[in-house]
Amino acid sequence: MNNRQDVENVIIIGSGPAGHTAAIYTARAELNPLMFEGFMAWGVAAGGQLTTTTEVENFPGFPEPIQGPELMMRMRQQSQRYGTRIETKTVNKVDFSNFPYKVRAEGESEPRQAKAVIIATWATAKRLWIPGEKEFWQRWISACAVCDWGLPMFRNQPLVVVGWGDTAAEEASYLSKFGSKVYMLVRRDQMRASKAMQKRVMNNPKIEILRNTEAKEAIWDDTWLKGVKIVNNKTGEERVLEARGLFYAIGHKPNTDFLEWQVLLDESWYIITKPWTPFVYRWPALWNTEAKDDAILKWVFAAGDVQDKKYRQAITAAWSGAMAGIDAEHYLAGLED
Ligand code: FAD
Ligand code: NDP
Repeated sequence: MNNRQDVENVIIIGSGPAGHTAAIYTARAELNPLMFEGFMAWGVAAGGQLTTTTEVENFPGFPEPIQGPELMMRMRQQSQRYGTRIETKTVNKVDFSNFPYKVRAEGESEPRQAKAVIIATWATAKRLWIPGEKEFWQRWISACAVCDWGLPMFRNQPLVVVGWGDTAAEEASYLSKFGSKVYMLVRRDQMRASKAMQKRVMNNPKIEILRNTEAKEAIWDDTWLKGVKIVNNKTGEERVLEARGLFYAIGHKPNTDFLEWQVLLDESWYIITKPWTPFVYRWPALWNTEAKDDAILKWVFAAGDVQDKKYRQAITAAWSGAMAGIDAEHYLAGLED
C-alpha cells in the first residue's frame, strides 16, 4: 500500500522491535504512520537483528520459545493491522534543518516530508579485518552463524567463533549442533555473556573456550578456509587452529551514518537521547551543559538499540519504541509544543 501524503504525520525509519512498537502506537493513535523497513539495510533483513537468530526465550507473552523471524513477522502484521503503511526501502538521507523534515529513500529522487521522524535503525555487525577476511567474507567467514550454519561445508567440521557476549555464546551453541567442534576466541579472561548463556556454553562438551586469545589471520588452501592463526595476547604464543568456518560475534556499530551529523552521537556512534526519553539533540550540541534542553531537535525521536548502549534487548527496544510513539502522538495532538 502506498497512499502518499504531502506531509506525513510520522515517518518511522527501521523495522525491528523499536520501529514496530512505535508503529503500533502511532497507528492506533490514527496518525497513519509510514514506515521505511529497509531493503537489506546494511546487510540485515527487514525485521532487524532478531531475523538472524533462532529461539527467543525472553520476550514476554511467549511461554514457549518463539523463533526470531516469526516474532518479527507477527510484529509486522500487528503494525499493519492498525494501519501502518510499510515500504521496503532503505533511507539514505535526512534533512532536519527545516520543517517539515525530509526523509529520502534509496532510489527516490524526491524526499518525503514529515512532521515527526522516529529513528530506529540499530546497527551493523562489526568485523575484524584480519588478513584473508576480505577475500572470503560471506563464504567461509561470516557475522551471522544462524544465517549460514546450514551450508554443507560447515557440517561436521571444526569451527571458530570470535567474541564472548550473548551473541557469541548463542552462535557457538548453535554451531555445535552441526560442527565437529567449536572454538570460542575470547580476548580477555572475563565473560560478558549473561549467566544463562554462559552456562549453556560451559556445559557443552563440543565447545572449547580459548581465553586471552585473538584471531590473527585466516589461512587458506586454494578455495577453502583451512585454519585460523591465533595469538595468546598474554604470552604472545601463536598457533594455527584447524577450522572450516570463522564466525564473528564481536558487537555492532550503530546505523547512524545516514544522519550525517545532524543528530548528536556519542563516541561509539550511538544517538544520545535525553535520559528516559526518546528526544534527541541537534548536532553540534555540547555534552554535559545546562543548555542541553535548548539543543533538543524537536519532533525527531530515537528508539531502540541505536540509542541504548547498555540493555540492547528486544523488550527494551520495544519499550523505547512505545515512548517514541507516545511522544510523537502528544506532539501531533498539540499537547506539547
Ligand atoms: P533492529 O531489530 O536491528 O532493527 C533495525 C532494522 O531497521 C534493521 O534491521 C533494518 O532493517 C532497518 N534499518 C536500518 N537502517 C535503516 C535505514 N537507513 N532505512 C530503513 N530501515 C533501516 N534480544 C532479546 O531480547 N532476546 C534474544 O533472544 C535476542 N537474541 C539476539 C540474537 C542475536 C544473534 C542478536 C544479534 C541480537 C539478539 N537480541 C536479542 C538483541 C535484539 O535483537 C535487539 O535488542 C533488537 O533487535 C533491537 O531492536 P531495534 O528495533 O533497535 O533494532
Ligand atoms: P556485546 O557487545 O555484548 O559483546 C561483544 C563481544 O565481542 C564481547 O565479548 C567483546 O569482548 C568481543 N569483542 C569486541 N570487539 C572485539 C575484537 N575486536 N576482538 C575480539 N573480541 C571482540 O555484543 P553481542 O552482540 O553479544 O550482544 C549485543 C546485545 O544483544 C547485548 O545486550 C546482548 O545481551 C543482546 N543479546 C541477547 C541475547 C539473548 O538474550 N538471548 C542473544 C544475543 C544478544 P569484551 O567483552 O572484551 O569487550
